[in-house]
Amino acid sequence: MVRRHWLAFVLLGLLWHRLAFTGLRWQPAIRPVFRRAGQGPYPELCVFDLDACLWDKEMYEMEAIPKDSDVVLGDLRGRGEGVTGVMSGADKISLHKGAMKALQDHADGKYPGMKIAVASSADTPFAEKVGRKALSLLEVLPGLTVWQLLLRDWEGKDVNQIGRQPPLSSNKARTHFPRLKEATGVSYDRMLFFDDCLWGDHCGMVAQACRETNGRGVVTVRTPSGLGEREWDRGLAMYASAGR
Ligand SMILES: [Mg+2]
Repeated sequence: MVRRHWLAFVLLGLLWHRLAFTGLRWQPAIRPVFRRAGQGPYPELCVFDLDACLWDKEMYEMEAIPKDSDVVLGDLRGRGEGVTGVMSGADKISLHKGAMKALQDHADGKYPGMKIAVASSADTPFAEKVGRKALSLLEVLPGLTVWQLLLRDWEGKDVNQIGRQPPLSSNKARTHFPRLKEATGVSYDRMLFFDDCLWGDHCGMVAQACRETNGRGVVTVRTPSGLGEREWDRGLAMYASAGR
């Protein structure tokens, strides 16, 4: 009787040891799947559409070009007080939550080797001016505007493609992206692109047309509800798992 209990004790001990050991061996296999969004590899160039993607408004619908005083102060996602809104008439232009997170993390250097730019086919010269002014006023961190961050990556050079007046057009695959590649020196297969695609399938067109000779092109993410935190994480994960 005593011997049986002893045997059962040994067998349970072996089983526990086996499970614990297996559990330890499982972790390295599981972790990379969950870590992909946060661990890279990161794109060399992350490109954002503006209207209804990086921010919540369509520039062609705005009433006026904002003045320097048309700013709304608020909490910059727990990083202090700054410009969280820009007024254009009665409309307030604000960054979407995922855009704010992406830009803050980028400003903090969380994505090594990654730079950013914007590609917007703003409808009219007026819409373009409203957009440029909003970029120069909205803040990512206290004292750091979106525009300053966009220039910081390129040592002050403006690589951004905003508008649809020549040499730009309404087709980002034909004009904005080739120009971005030229200005930045980053190949298409090292780019990640976010666009709401509500007025045209910019993502589909860019993914189709902007490819390298190896067949790989821009990784694209549609953000029909704006760039949320989930879309941002999904984009990073999609790029990381694309095996570049
Ligand atoms: Mg848009």
